[in-house]
Amino acid sequence: MSDCIFCAIVDGDIPGRIVHETEHSLAFLDANPLAPGHTLVVPKEHHARLDEVPADAAADLFAAVNDLVPRVEAAVDADATNVGINNGPAAGQEVDHVHVHIVPRFEGDGGSPIHAVAGERPDLSDEELADIEAAISG
Ligand code: AMP
Ligand code: ZN
Repeated sequence: MSDCIFCAIVDGDIPGRIVHETEHSLAFLDANPLAPGHTLVVPKEHHARLDEVPADAAADLFAAVNDLVPRVEAAVDADATNVGINNGPAAGQEVDHVHVHIVPRFEGDGGSPIHAVAGERPDLSDEELADIEAAISG
């Protein structure tokens, strides 16, 4: 897509600190890292949402994430990582090209678990949980 910053990195039109490349995916360092080693993994083809990524490219994307996590942790001597996608603007997605964040974590770094990303916790009844279960499972 012409005005997409991540497409521009994939196309080599703007610089990126590229750390990994596969047939369908590219990984580069986040320009405003939350921690040393903060890495983004993107499908090379432009898709805004995860469910728009074709199955073969999605498999390649998650294989790349799987490869990269231990390499990122080793590179910055991290104790752990948070791996996540802001999938849609309401979830905090600012760049509308699918990207997986790999955020290195360190004992005592003052950060939060991924549970901290959502709003107020819902108090769901068994019936509501059953409805949701049925709606997702189809
Ligand atoms: P999100 O809020 O999930 O859309 O995150 C977008 C991420 O892209 C942020 O963490 C930004 O720091 C990062 N970012 C924006 N522009 C660039 C760029 N040119 N190169 C690398 N990372 C970028
Ligand atoms: Zn794009």
